[in-house]
Amino acid sequence: MNILEEIKQLKKEKNAIILTHCYQDIEIDEVSDYVGDSLYLSRMAAKTNADIIVFAGVYFMAQSAKLLSPNKKVLLPNMNSGCLMADMIDVNSLREFKSKFPDIPVVCYINSTAEVKAECDICVTSSNAIDVVRSLNKDKVLFVPDTYLGKWVEKQLKNVEVITFNGFCPTHLRIRPEDIISARKKYPNAVILAHPECHNAVLELVDFVGSTKEIMEYAKQSDKKEFIIATEKGVVDRLNRDSINNNWGKTFTLINENIICPNMKQNSLEDIYRVLKTEENEITIDKSISEKAKECIEKMLSVKI
Ligand code: SF4
Repeated sequence: MNILEEIKQLKKEKNAIILTHCYQDIEIDEVSDYVGDSLYLSRMAAKTNADIIVFAGVYFMAQSAKLLSPNKKVLLPNMNSGCLMADMIDVNSLREFKSKFPDIPVVCYINSTAEVKAECDICVTSSNAIDVVRSLNKDKVLFVPDTYLGKWVEKQLKNVEVITFNGFCPTHLRIRPEDIISARKKYPNAVILAHPECHNAVLELVDFVGSTKEIMEYAKQSDKKEFIIATEKGVVDRLNRDSINNNWGKTFTLINENIICPNMKQNSLEDIYRVLKTEENEITIDKSISEKAKECIEKMLSVKI
């Protein structure tokens, strides 16, 4: 048996599923049960009847799966796959930030640890951030850790002041306004789509801003044929694969060849096989944190959009 067959066999034997984020190496899709963005995968984690969830993504995503499925064993293929943005804030820096702006609700991007979520009021993903912040009906909110997503939400809502922590995604910040300007010249017929973790100066120049899921839906439904994608390479790889498999006749080009998240790429098929076999790298969360952090995610999931 090759490694793909071995993984599939182990999944059956152990009643396990594999949840895979779109920024993972595309070869992992072969053994995955669900592939998508963090909101979709959180929902799948909450719904599944599997005994084991292998989360092919970064650490905070596996933690979120554990929060939503506390009785299941959640395994992270490679413990080095942390999110650089999530690691920019910890409980101490969050408390310090909050103390400067007392009595203002704290919204946290899902790209944060359970410890941070436990001290925030409500969670958002890039898909639902605008609607969730609007649902709070406040004129001021604190937003952690991503300053660029927070400022983008503020711009869309107009009547809410979003006071942001100074975190950012180093991968998305490698996209510069000059990249968009030169892509326009090189591909005059292309539509340019970007993720809101990009610098606000980049977002000003593109045709569409959306989460991973929204970018993929937009590209699928558009009647245009050429697209420049300003987000992580995994999205481009999946769109090109789907275009070939479904005869869309569309081409997708990564805005700049460096837009690869090194942490997301830590997980390999070998790691997935190993954790399934040994059940190592189990995610555990202290009860004092997990109840509050779960509440923070569940509040988000309960917002009617
Ligand atoms: S792309 Fe950025 S935000 Fe996403 S996991 Fe990597 S470092 Fe974190």
